[in-house]
Amino acid sequence: MQFHLNGFRTGDPGLPDAAVPTQEKSAGDTLPVEADVLIVGCGPAGLTLAAQLAAFPDIRTVIVEQKPGPLQLGQADGVACRTMEMFEAFGFAERVLKESYWVNETTFWKPADNVNGADRNCIVRSGRVRDVEEGLSHMPHVILNQARVHDFYLETMQRSASRLVPHYARKLAGLERLPDGVSDGASEFPVTARFERQDAGHEGKTETIRARYVVGCDGARSAVRQSMGRVLQGDSANHAWGVMDVLVVTDFPDIRFKALIQSADEGSIVLIPREGGYLVRIYVELDKLSANERVAARNISIEQLIAAAQRIFHPYRLDVKEVAWWSVYEIGQRLCDRFDDLQPHEMAARVPRVFIAGDACHTHSPKAGQGMNVSMQDSFNLGWKLAAVLRGRSPPSLLHTYSAERQAVAKELIDFDREWAAMLSAPSRKQGDPAGTGVDPADVQRYFVQHGRYTAGTATRYKPALLTGPLAGEPSHQHLAEGLQIGTRFHSAPVVRMGDGKPMQLGEALAADGRWRLIAFAGEGQGGDDAAGPTSPVGKLCSYLVESPQSPLRRYTPAGADPDAVFDVRGVFQQSHHQLPVTAMPELLFPRKGRFGLRDYEKAFCVLEDANQNIYALRKIDRAYGCLVVVRPDQYIAHILPLGDTDALAAFFGGFMLDA
Ligand code: FAD
Repeated sequence: MQFHLNGFRTGDPGLPDAAVPTQEKSAGDTLPVEADVLIVGCGPAGLTLAAQLAAFPDIRTVIVEQKPGPLQLGQADGVACRTMEMFEAFGFAERVLKESYWVNETTFWKPADNVNGADRNCIVRSGRVRDVEEGLSHMPHVILNQARVHDFYLETMQRSASRLVPHYARKLAGLERLPDGVSDGASEFPVTARFERQDAGHEGKTETIRARYVVGCDGARSAVRQSMGRVLQGDSANHAWGVMDVLVVTDFPDIRFKALIQSADEGSIVLIPREGGYLVRIYVELDKLSANERVAARNISIEQLIAAAQRIFHPYRLDVKEVAWWSVYEIGQRLCDRFDDLQPHEMAARVPRVFIAGDACHTHSPKAGQGMNVSMQDSFNLGWKLAAVLRGRSPPSLLHTYSAERQAVAKELIDFDREWAAMLSAPSRKQGDPAGTGVDPADVQRYFVQHGRYTAGTATRYKPALLTGPLAGEPSHQHLAEGLQIGTRFHSAPVVRMGDGKPMQLGEALAADGRWRLIAFAGEGQGGDDAAGPTSPVGKLCSYLVESPQSPLRRYTPAGADPDAVFDVRGVFQQSHHQLPVTAMPELLFPRKGRFGLRDYEKAFCVLEDANQNIYALRKIDRAYGCLVVVRPDQYIAHILPLGDTDALAAFFGGFMLDA
């Protein structure tokens, strides 16, 4: 965390000066009449987007929620490794790490199958695996109440320079987009949203707001989606789930481990220990509902849910002492064909103005813990793009990439979720009956391990396109860093910060601030102090970036801004920080910034001495030649280039950026 750049300041360094106090004021009684971005819904998707946009006080963001205040209890709780990496970018991962339950191991339970005289109706442990594959992420898979995740986002928004707070108790009642080509001032704000107030004393009152862009983060029954005429398509029959957060006394030995339990005839349970050491979440799969049937019509009670769980846990006792929260909800694997308001044939001529994110465009079963995680990743993808367009850095056509990228990811995850959910719902096959019906518990365990990257959120890979190299007809340079696959999220590894010798994860440097990262990994060619000298590949790259009129830094950084306002250039070197002083770095890796021209000592890194922890080895980076890794503001790897291929670098950014 860096602060004091523009002068010493006392107090909480995490609280920047408020840049737009008017946003705070307007959060009180009425909605403002205009917004650059209007977000509907304060779930994980809406809050991620709001937290991202709050980093830009020059963008007028308004977020509206129908409930009277923040979520207090319940709903999703699984936070995947990839999501933790994103929380790190937002600055609150440490708090989540401290408060959450860490999923270290997952255990598997199956019917005893009369082995050693045990009753088939008894469950026995059939396996135990490490929950997350070694080295998949520097962050763990954790469990934390969705309401706490909301709290952290709300705090991030409120403490941002925008001081952004939601407008509660307002329900979206209508949304309209003006036809293109309207010539009055309204065309700047072409979407009009109408909200009905829900709070005491204002019921029935209507408020209207005009926006440049609207994002529907309003959940599975999204009114924004309906206003676009889109539907969620997928399973016609839903699965009903019972879920309860409970304090229990039990002799079940794995109550503090995540456990997948398949009983002989009583159904299955997903057991999730919760934060705090005592609470557990128990998911009990209930019947499949028929088409158009709502689970509410079944009148399932908490007593029925507890009784079902007790039957599955047999022979272990489950004495429920307190129910903190419970719910019965229905879910199917469903997906929207596009996540914006355009038809495919309109893409060349129109730009999207209305988007949907999260459950509004895809729903998953809770078995793979995807819903909340994928929803947040959707809006992390959209947030920086909206900011780039609204701040004049990219043309509005950049926004076409949101639906294209995220719809493809959602489809893949839904296919995975469908397969996994079916596996867990199937009856457990009897031991020694290979031809029998149902699923072999060993296959369940195998599938869980094989697909761990999906559940960890690290399997997402964007295909080559505008924002993911190489450009059509260009060669791929993926071989220069085999462990940093283009299109996937930047997989962090340990480094030592050159300026102060601090061991850290390189991923810590990738904050959610809308900037592109150009990470130059030096080759070993020069050695010693010369590794970054003017004739070294890194030195030449830095000179090009600073001096050439074609350089993305020169073209797209506004006059008078700090050199790293748009592109944050970082260097990684193979020497120890004892051999290579930060003062030997090129200007760009040791830049002068702020009103005093203070030096930034935190741009250059060295490898760890431990060969097993060396980032070049861990990420298979070419030691002889090094490479340049281009990382998007949402932490995905956009391109890998030789350090000297400045033409390809310029061509890549020329595809979607506007001259400053
Ligand atoms: P949501 O979290 O649904 O947020 C949408 C927000 O929009 C809500 O706050 C809603 O009040 C608001 N909204 C909706 N319509 C309007 C409107 N017209 N005007 C203004 N505001 C509006 N997932 C799990 O993995 N495990 C679980 O146990 C689990 N339980 C769940 C229980 C319930 C009751 C629900 C609804 C969902 C549950 N989920 C669970 C799903 C998980 O919570 C979602 O996948 C995740 O929250 C998706 O985030 P989102 O932001 O897209 O949508």
